Amino acid sequence: MSIATTTPEAAHPAFDVERVRADFLILHQLVRGKPLVYFDNAASSQKPRAVIDAIKHYYENDHANVHRGVHALSERATELYEEARVKVQKFIGAPCLRDLIFTRGTTEAINLVAQTFGRMNVHAGDEVIVSALEHHSNIVPWQVLCWEKHANLRVIPVNDAGELDLAALEKMINPATKIISIAHVSNALGTINPVKKIIELAHQHGVYVVVDGAQAVPHLRIDVRELDCDFYAFSGHKVYGPTGIGGLYGKPRHLELMPPYQTGGDMISYVSFAKTTWNELPYKFEAGTPNIAGAIGLAAAVDYVEDLEQSFLRIAGGSPAPLVLRPNKTDELPAPRPVAEHEHCLLTHATERVAAIPGVRIIGTAKEKAGVLSFVVEGMSALDVGTQLDLEGIAVRTGHHCCQPLMERFGIAGTVRASFAIYNTLDEVDVFADALEKIAASVKPRIAVPEMRQFQYAPATGANPIAVAEELASDFEILDEWKDRYEYIMDLGKKLAPMPDVLKTEPNRVKRCQSTVFMHLRIRPGTIDIVEFLADSDATIVRGELALLEKLFCGQRAVEIVAFDIHGFMERIGLEQHLSPGRRTGLSEMIARVKHFAAQVTQQSVP
Ligand code: PMP
Repeated sequence: MSIATTTPEAAHPAFDVERVRADFLILHQLVRGKPLVYFDNAASSQKPRAVIDAIKHYYENDHANVHRGVHALSERATELYEEARVKVQKFIGAPCLRDLIFTRGTTEAINLVAQTFGRMNVHAGDEVIVSALEHHSNIVPWQVLCWEKHANLRVIPVNDAGELDLAALEKMINPATKIISIAHVSNALGTINPVKKIIELAHQHGVYVVVDGAQAVPHLRIDVRELDCDFYAFSGHKVYGPTGIGGLYGKPRHLELMPPYQTGGDMISYVSFAKTTWNELPYKFEAGTPNIAGAIGLAAAVDYVEDLEQSFLRIAGGSPAPLVLRPNKTDELPAPRPVAEHEHCLLTHATERVAAIPGVRIIGTAKEKAGVLSFVVEGMSALDVGTQLDLEGIAVRTGHHCCQPLMERFGIAGTVRASFAIYNTLDEVDVFADALEKIAASVKPRIAVPEMRQFQYAPATGANPIAVAEELASDFEILDEWKDRYEYIMDLGKKLAPMPDVLKTEPNRVKRCQSTVFMHLRIRPGTIDIVEFLADSDATIVRGELALLEKLFCGQRAVEIVAFDIHGFMERIGLEQHLSPGRRTGLSEMIARVKHFAAQVTQQSVP
């Protein structure tokens, strides 16, 4: 898909997005008083009624454990579970049922391959190749394998557009190369990688290829036979199915030779204390009671996507493609498909709108992209942009997207990522782009930071933290709505005293925060137990949190800081409840910094 050449007008004429939206009840709600715009589909897509109904129907009518019972319910559950496998098998073009293993998702599928096939085939001095744009799920399992085997993990570089450097890959492959594991579509940038070319190249050198298809399955037609990959991993929840279910396709000749990944019930053929034998494929890799409802839900999702495509093709007067035979050439321009064309229009329109906003830079401008638009707003952290979009009811993802090496490659802490699905509309793209325009226009130029010697540590704002907390809480209690409280915190953030760059050192960096945070604590000169600090973050909302901590603790006695119930206070002002788990972790780390320092001071100051 070439973004530059397609315009919104090129949408498939038969595609009726309102009809699709009617199937997704969750979309019809207000968030923070505004109609929800859900652009976090690359993280997880929403579920149509057909999927929810299939799971509900299964639990209300057919549930029992599979494969073992002789009774009617068990037989029915088994039949549904195995029917689901047939549907998913056909959906990805796997030649036969034995090749498709149900897993919890992409992560488990890749771990399965690394821990079985990888362990069998990678030895000391060998090499495994991944790329610079991989999700952590397609880095860490290989990294761990390489550590264990004393092998080397090598990385295909990406260019400034976010495309793989295939010439570098060609040079990289050598007799020590055993496996290449590569994303089909990048979750952080949307780049569609030329996996077919990579597979052909790898196979010429006897190298096996694992494809991480987590972001490809929702957007592209996948035909694993045509691709000729050795393994293909994907997750159900990204393609309108439930969480906790996904799949791994593997060539049967590999699967036959691989040892089991996990052992226990269902994966055995015969167990005795002397010897145990494995069940046939695919059950050898499905130890324990499987996610039966998940598989049924995933099959319903697959049916839903197929039916949607076929029905729009029929409306358009095109001849519906046979369901079983999937079009070939996954890497090349796809045949006209209503769903893909609709998604492509969304991406094109969003790209054009966002590219025109001053101060916004798109990260990832590959020629071939699917479903994802990543960008940064100069002068504002991704976290702040995401939080402000959330206040408009717009759900995007911010941060490193589990691609920290890729962020490092681009020299950024993270991006804002809008990702699209079949139910999104061009109007939603406009709502999002209008909001982003306002956010980008609100960025203030950075004030020059004074020299270290001119720095002032904040004085105490009350007799002790309890007294300060009372004052602050009464300020917050006047503000009923979270939106107003949020703005109040942002305001505090804007006023937080700057921190000199010389103090922004690695020891002063607060880890496990979604943004970059520094805190420098000290005992006030001339005292033995008064704590003071300077702090900073690239996110204004986090600066606001730091400002709250500064008001509560800066200039206070260590013993009072240790005794103060800060989490109780955060709950009282509504902050704990409104923070995502990730942000809560960051705040806890900042609090722990102050508390820990104060605790050390109290120990030292005890005579
Ligand atoms: N690979 C890619 C490219 C992904 O986008 C994701 C999910 N963000 C994963 C792997 C991991 O998928 P899951 O969490 O469903 O196992």
